[in-house]
Amino acid sequence: MDDTKYGTRNKRGDFTPNEPLEHAPLFAFPPRPLALLKWLPSYFLPWNVLWLASAAAWWAWVVPEAEVMKSLHWGWVLWLFAVNCVAVFVFYGGMELQLYVRRTQGTRFKYNAKWPADHKSSAFMFQSQTIDSLIRAFGTGVPIWTAWEVLVLWAWANDIGPWVGLMDNPWYLAAVWLILPVIHEFHFFLIHRLIHTPFLYKWVHSVHHNSVNPSPWSSLSMHPVEHLLYFATAAYHFIIPSHPLLAIYQLHFAGFGAVVGHIGFDKIEMGEDKGLDSHAFAHYLHHKYFEVNYGDGLIPLDRWFGTWHDGSKDGDARMQARYERRKAKANARA
Ligand SMILES: [Zn+2]
Ligand SMILES: [Zn+2]
Repeated sequence: MDDTKYGTRNKRGDFTPNEPLEHAPLFAFPPRPLALLKWLPSYFLPWNVLWLASAAAWWAWVVPEAEVMKSLHWGWVLWLFAVNCVAVFVFYGGMELQLYVRRTQGTRFKYNAKWPADHKSSAFMFQSQTIDSLIRAFGTGVPIWTAWEVLVLWAWANDIGPWVGLMDNPWYLAAVWLILPVIHEFHFFLIHRLIHTPFLYKWVHSVHHNSVNPSPWSSLSMHPVEHLLYFATAAYHFIIPSHPLLAIYQLHFAGFGAVVGHIGFDKIEMGEDKGLDSHAFAHYLHHKYFEVNYGDGLIPLDRWFGTWHDGSKDGDARMQARYERRKAKANARA
């Protein structure tokens, strides 16, 4: 594909898409029904439908019988952990292999022209972003993800929580499915803003931000406290009447969906003239500038709090002006 039709490159070779980022028109006021209709397919495709399919596959083929899950035994817990490890390895690893090892599309659509593997840094274990990310993803990321999954399934098997039947309430559960990404966005913004406060940033979240130029493996490169908070979206299913399949969807949205923000490419080429929109730009800008885009734009929280960066020159100017104002305030206090 010719990426210059879709964006520009600076002299370092970094790609910036032509179209500035926009918030989803979901919470637009006054409402924009036409924009909403145009945006709707991107809400489902490709990612949300993929996570629903993976959750359904887990429910059908991976999750044991309720009778088995009534008591906590290593057998089924380790089984779920092993499946999650394999799935993460295949999904993250597949993306990484394609885009970062074999580099099948070169730097076309790549926001940062540099390759993380070419640069050693003492910020990482073994000076390698990849090895550090792998240790964190499989050392604490997938275990904590699985722990939340086990908690939900054990509670369901013991009838703890407001669970409803899949066959009795299909329309209700479909409606819940529709709002789960909004819940994820709300939760993620909240905890993300929290771990950007100085103390928690220093001890917890700086681990994730060591990857200034993220790749798919960076997705779960977090401190265990962040893993715990990040996957806590599963806990919403103890508040809203739900079904474990949707709780698994919520975990897949967080776990597999984390890749979406860290792909590092604006499009994944699918042939000569077709590319899949990655939706990675908002979070890429967060890794680049730290104090913008705490959310991914599904709810305009960043706009409401003045931290939205749309990737344009105007966005840069707004960010600079905000830093200047803050510096002036700090100086005045001093
Ligand atoms: Zn990130
Ligand atoms: Zn952050």
